[in-house]
Amino acid sequence: MTGYMALLKESGLKATFQRLHILEVVDKYGHIAIEDIYDKVIKIHPSLSVATIYKNIIIMVEKGVLVEVPIMGRKSKYELSKLDHIHLVCTQCGEVEDLACTKDINNILDFLTQEEKFKLTKQQINLYGTCSQCQSQKILQK
Ligand SMILES: [Zn+2]
Ligand SMILES: [Zn+2]
Repeated sequence: MTGYMALLKESGLKATFQRLHILEVVDKYGHIAIEDIYDKVIKIHPSLSVATIYKNIIIMVEKGVLVEVPIMGRKSKYELSKLDHIHLVCTQCGEVEDLACTKDINNILDFLTQEEKFKLTKQQINLYGTCSQCQSQKILQK
């Protein structure tokens, strides 16, 4: 819990009990939608509304504590801010997998953005497709 507390304070946010609990849930699941965060958080804070949780998440996204991951055709998922990485997003089941950014990829991004005189500060690359599990399920159905 103390790590989350420091994270919030560094970002200029009050470390409220709800925010700490939201961060704990997001950290546990990796990438998670607001409705699912709500389902977990109300077990400990039954009086919380979706709107309150939503508001807290939006503030934490604005302050860079959380990152929104857009999922094609579904609701966004949220994750803790961490080193730049690539997302493999399954459009069948909505699973999100993290892939580390290699030096080669960073070099390409630097090259492309410098070409446009664009100063790159933050990146998020989302690749959409079908995960291995959904692919094997499809084969089984045939
Ligand atoms: Zn899948
Ligand atoms: Zn991620």
